[in-house]
Amino acid sequence: MNIIRIPVLSDNYIFLLHDVNTNQVAVVDPAIPEPVLMEIKNLGADLVAIFNTHHHFDHVGGNQELLKYYPNAVVYGGIKDKGRIPHQQVFLEEGDTVEFGDRKADVYFVPGHTYAHIAYYFPPVEASGWGELFCGDTLFAGGCGRLFEGTPTDMVNSLTKFRNLPDSTRVWCAHEYTLSNLKFAITIDKDNQDLQQRLQQVVGDRQKEIPTIPSSIKIEKLTNPFLRWDNPKIKQAMGLNEPERVFGRLRGMKDNF
Ligand code: ZN
Ligand code: FE
Repeated sequence: MNIIRIPVLSDNYIFLLHDVNTNQVAVVDPAIPEPVLMEIKNLGADLVAIFNTHHHFDHVGGNQELLKYYPNAVVYGGIKDKGRIPHQQVFLEEGDTVEFGDRKADVYFVPGHTYAHIAYYFPPVEASGWGELFCGDTLFAGGCGRLFEGTPTDMVNSLTKFRNLPDSTRVWCAHEYTLSNLKFAITIDKDNQDLQQRLQQVVGDRQKEIPTIPSSIKIEKLTNPFLRWDNPKIKQAMGLNEPERVFGRLRGMKDNF
C-alpha cells in the first residue's frame, strides 16, 4: 500500500492509499475533490473507498463530487456521525475492521475533537514494518485537536489508544500544524532535548516548505506534551497531577496561545 499525501486548502492533508496490485485507491478525509480526482486519473486507478474520520467539512467536503465519478466507492465513517457525513454507507465502531487491498485497518473510537471521531490503524505487514495511523484531527504532530464536542477525559482516553500503538507507527494527521504546536510545546517543556531538536528540524523544514507529516508515535511520545500528561516535568509545569486535569489545563493554554 503506497500512501500519497495531497496538501490542500491552507493546511489540510488528504491521503490517497494506493494498492499497486489491484490499482485501486482509497482516500482518507477528502477535503476537496479536484486534486484527488487528478491524482487518481494520473494513476489510472479506481476509487473504491472513502475513509472519513469525522464530519467536519474540511474532511468530508469532497465526498459528493468523488461519488459522481466513482459511484461504487464506499463511504466509511463513525456510527455516531450518522447524518453528518455526506453519503455515509458504513457506520463504524471501536473494534471494527475495514479492508483495503491486502491490508486491514482496525477502527478506534476516539472522541474529543468531535463526539463521533474515529481513527483507522493499519498494522504492519511484517514485524519490522511500519504501521499506519490515520487519526484525522485527534492527534497532531506536536499537538492535538481542539475539544469541540468532548472533554479532557474523552481526549485522554482517545490519545491513550494511540500512545499504546507501536513506536514504529506513522502518524498521518490531517493538518500541517506542527510548527505552531512545537512553538507552544517548548514553552511548557523547555528542557526536553528531543523537543528542542525537533523544533529546530521543523523550523528548517517549514522554511523550505517540506511537509512534517507523517510523524511517528515514537517521536510524538518523546515530544508532544498532549501525550505526556503523566510526565513529571509536564505535571510540574501545570501544577497539577491527575491526567485529565493536566491535559485540560494544557489544552486550555494552547487554545489561548
Ligand atoms: Zn476537525
Ligand atoms: Fe480539520
